[in-house]
Amino acid sequence: MHYLIAVQCVGCNAGFQNYCFTSIVVAYFIGYALKQDGYNKFNPNHYATMAFIIFFICWLESEYKIQVYTINGSVSKAMHFVNDMLNIIILGEFARIFTINILTEKDMLIHTAEVDELTGLSNRHHIRRMCNFYHLGEKNGQTTYSIAIIDIDNFKKINDSYGHNTGDYVLQKLADILKPHISTNTIIGRWGGEEFIIICIGQDSYNTIKKISENIRINIQNTAMDYEDYHFNITVSIGIDGTTVGDSYIHILENADANLYKAKESGKNKVIYS
Ligand code: GH3
Ligand code: MG
Ligand code: MG
Repeated sequence: MHYLIAVQCVGCNAGFQNYCFTSIVVAYFIGYALKQDGYNKFNPNHYATMAFIIFFICWLESEYKIQVYTINGSVSKAMHFVNDMLNIIILGEFARIFTINILTEKDMLIHTAEVDELTGLSNRHHIRRMCNFYHLGEKNGQTTYSIAIIDIDNFKKINDSYGHNTGDYVLQKLADILKPHISTNTIIGRWGGEEFIIICIGQDSYNTIKKISENIRINIQNTAMDYEDYHFNITVSIGIDGTTVGDSYIHILENADANLYKAKESGKNKVIYS
């Protein structure tokens, strides 16, 4: 019988107040979507205040039975149901679009922050993050791993003789040679400038990294660099070191660097390990 009592159409009894809540979510989404270069084209705070006032008027109207016009109670119940459904659909759809938007932007930001733009390899930041992920170098860590530092020989000369763009081309070409060696146990990235890093993880990592490094050195030596009118070959020097369990990451890097230095000092185009 309760639903046979006449109620006002625009008040709380027919569920129209739900649109106040839903529209606030939609307003914040639109405000976010229209935001450009940090500038707010549409301020959702104003809209939220307005929605709150509208809700308050609806509530007053319902509470004090200020009749706008009357409808049958069961019609009001049906309207409430339809309004609830519509609000769920609108909220659900906006939540879906908003989540996809945020996650896509997050992926783009991570990609920008962790991938070297020129070569498409992981940058130093990402390499460090992966090392943390694999718990490399932790005091009581159980992971055995090895590191190789690759440095292009006489790279400055290439830049000076053929120009910076040719130098960039060489870096890209070298990255293309390195990429096929990336696997679940082998991390490869650009360490900075004309230096690249390989980290092999696992019990047999030292033998694996020696094999990979020699393979890479020979491959690079035999790869023709053809950029515009310039045709030349390059070589790389590689320094390697491997851990015993729990050895510090910085320590291994220093040893690999020292071996790279030895490779440079003893004539370049070679792989030196401890
Ligand atoms: P070495 O055989 O002893 O390694 O000599 P090198 O000439 O390779 O080393 P050096 O450190 O003297 O020079 C490295 C050069 O790498 C200098 C720098 O201008 C160049 N370089 C660093 N990053 C980039 C880059 O992104 N693009 C280009 N084209 N050149 C770069
Ligand atoms: Mg260097
Ligand atoms: Mg160099």
